[in-house]
Amino acid sequence: MGIWALNLVGVVGIAGVLLFIRSSRPAPLPPPAVMPTAASTPTTAPAIIQPPPTTYILPSVTPNPRSTPIVATTPTTFVLHTGPDPIMIGYSVSGRPLEVYQFGNGPTEKLIIAGIHGGNEWNTIALAEELILYLTEHPEVVPPDVTLYILHALNPDGEARAHGHEGRVNDHGVDLNRNWPYHWKSEWNKDGCWSYLPVTAGEYPASEPETVALMNFINFHDIKALISYHSAALGVFAGGLPPFEPSERLAETLAQRGGYMYPPINTGCDYSGNLTDWASSVKGIPAVDIELTNHSDTNYEKNLRVLDAFLKWER
Ligand SMILES: [Zn+2]
Repeated sequence: MGIWALNLVGVVGIAGVLLFIRSSRPAPLPPPAVMPTAASTPTTAPAIIQPPPTTYILPSVTPNPRSTPIVATTPTTFVLHTGPDPIMIGYSVSGRPLEVYQFGNGPTEKLIIAGIHGGNEWNTIALAEELILYLTEHPEVVPPDVTLYILHALNPDGEARAHGHEGRVNDHGVDLNRNWPYHWKSEWNKDGCWSYLPVTAGEYPASEPETVALMNFINFHDIKALISYHSAALGVFAGGLPPFEPSERLAETLAQRGGYMYPPINTGCDYSGNLTDWASSVKGIPAVDIELTNHSDTNYEKNLRVLDAFLKWER
């Protein structure tokens, strides 16, 4: 009994010493951050784990280190050589910047968004860039009591991927106009919804960084009217579920000035989780979707008239 007790003391003592030695060792250094390449890494080498980036300060020409490859020749980045610098409101899944241009400094804030459907509706991005250039050259068209914001590409990853159906979703495969936290559905009836390729609404409402960035921007401003540009051909949709009268009046005014259809064509599509319904029904913002007439023209002249009516519109 006495020997066993002595042995137990010895075992506990040795364990304690080992524990002390172990805990007094310096922590092992992290592996060096080396990008494995096909040429330099033999197949038997242990995998080198990339540490996550600690900063996200990304000039628009620098890809996020965790991003999918960005092809430099793809026209993903709009550069305004003269005029205001954009406000960076966040980044896409693959690290492309989400940029808002501001015109005017009045108390009544209005917002135009293009490219929520990326490369499938790339002409909305082209239109927004034309409007930005126009406003840079003609700042006087913005009334003194108005501030206008233009977000020209909400889904830059989709635009970079392809101009066509493949470019509709973000780099998580999410349709960003089904991801808003109002009337959101993980599955929906896609009859009449132009579903050429599989898309999702996101894992949960507002799961996507593009949605969150724009939500934050809207939440931190007092937006009095909103346009989200799409293509093609259906007319102008008024946001709000149930119908929101200020959105209907805004839609009617802009459709008339632009020569678009209002009410729009009803194809029977169930538009769940969309931006303008969230804006109108949750935030009380008069909001419309404007559909350009096809997938290639910007309808520039029509939308100069829409812009004029939008800037002057009062609730
Ligand atoms: Zn669209």
